Amino acid sequence: MTLPDFELLRPTSLEEALAALERCGPDAQVIAGGTDLIPSMKQRLFTPRVLVDLKRLRELDYICSEEDGGLGIGALTKISALAESPVVVERFPVLHEAAKTVASPLLRNLGTLGGNLCLDTRCLYYNQSEFWRASLGYCLKKDGTRCHVAPGGQFCWAAFSGDTAPALLALDARVQLAGPRGARELSLAEFYVNDGVVRVAKAPGELVTGIRIPAASAGWCGVYKKYRIRQSIDYPLAGVAAVMRKTTDGTCLEARVALTGVNPAPKLVNAAVLLRGRRYDATLAEEVAHEAIRTGKPLRTSASTPEYRRHILRVFVRRAIEQVWRNGH
Ligand SMILES: Cc1cc2nc3c(=O)[nH]c(=O)nc-3n(C[C@H](O)[C@H](O)[C@H](O)COP(=O)(O)OP(=O)(O)OC[C@H]3O[C@@H](n4cnc5c(N)ncnc54)[C@H](O)[C@@H]3O)c2cc1C
Ligand code: SF4
Repeated sequence: MTLPDFELLRPTSLEEALAALERCGPDAQVIAGGTDLIPSMKQRLFTPRVLVDLKRLRELDYICSEEDGGLGIGALTKISALAESPVVVERFPVLHEAAKTVASPLLRNLGTLGGNLCLDTRCLYYNQSEFWRASLGYCLKKDGTRCHVAPGGQFCWAAFSGDTAPALLALDARVQLAGPRGARELSLAEFYVNDGVVRVAKAPGELVTGIRIPAASAGWCGVYKKYRIRQSIDYPLAGVAAVMRKTTDGTCLEARVALTGVNPAPKLVNAAVLLRGRRYDATLAEEVAHEAIRTGKPLRTSASTPEYRRHILRVFVRRAIEQVWRNGH
């Protein structure tokens, strides 16, 4: 498959990149590592006339401990740098675990945090060649009018399939954006829109510049569990990030559990609040896992069945909670 024609702009500062995006309007799309966008362009899922390459924006490539104990991470930070960062390994283990499962070593060396957070949603009927999609009459996410997953409706259920977002959601991180109207910050829960077409609350011409993890989330135990078909390279078909802050005797002070790969947006499991103030209790972990499958709603968007993904979600949530509760991970 070949790439469609496009013009490449290579700004060297954030200001220049924003000006280029404003000038080119809807004809332009940003590219960072290109590990997700380039294959999608070959499949004609995106055919931007102009690509604004962010790679020269060195100002967005940083991992920076803040004075209050929080952590700032620039959008151009490579996934490999995130996975190997000593401060991430030590103070935000759930993010380290999630980052090291992204794709493969080569793709982690190219792929960036910004691209990972802004990934397009995925579906068996969408991530296909133009020829394949045309033979089916396309679908409403791109060029068609009908959803092949839920044919009666007018909603796209394509699944958000990034690994770092659930970890960052569990860490209560905020995403930083810059655009023609200046800079702003959103919680990740506000940033993601549970709609396979809309995906994120990013205004036209806006870029993700970085994220900030609050000091209050530092040092929590954390684990990430991921189900995928090819262990060495695949997107998550179901993923669970769990974090917990505990007393020395193992009482849970606070816990958060987030899901990915099963809804159009990564989601927090509200039932994790039940763990607060409790000592280790296997029945309670199972109860929260049971509630989690009301939040995670896998449909026929992947090669794995919804039934199996729901089952694996329940098992992963239970195991993740047990692990953060019992181990000092
Ligand atoms: C075979 C294969 C396996 C993969 N497996 C995984 C996996 O297991 N887990 C996973 O999470 N991902 C996976 N990916 C996807 C991808 O490699 C990673 O998500 C990577 O981090 C994407 O970053 P990037 O910089 O390459 O994004 P790009 O491809 O450059 O961009 C992705 C999207 O984000 C937008 N974008 C990029 N940067 C910004 C920004 N700063 N602001 C606003 N929009 C932006 C682009 O316009 C585009 O729409 C896989 C990809 C492939 C090809
Ligand atoms: S969920 Fe439906 S509309 Fe969305 S990509 Fe899949 S088939 Fe298309």
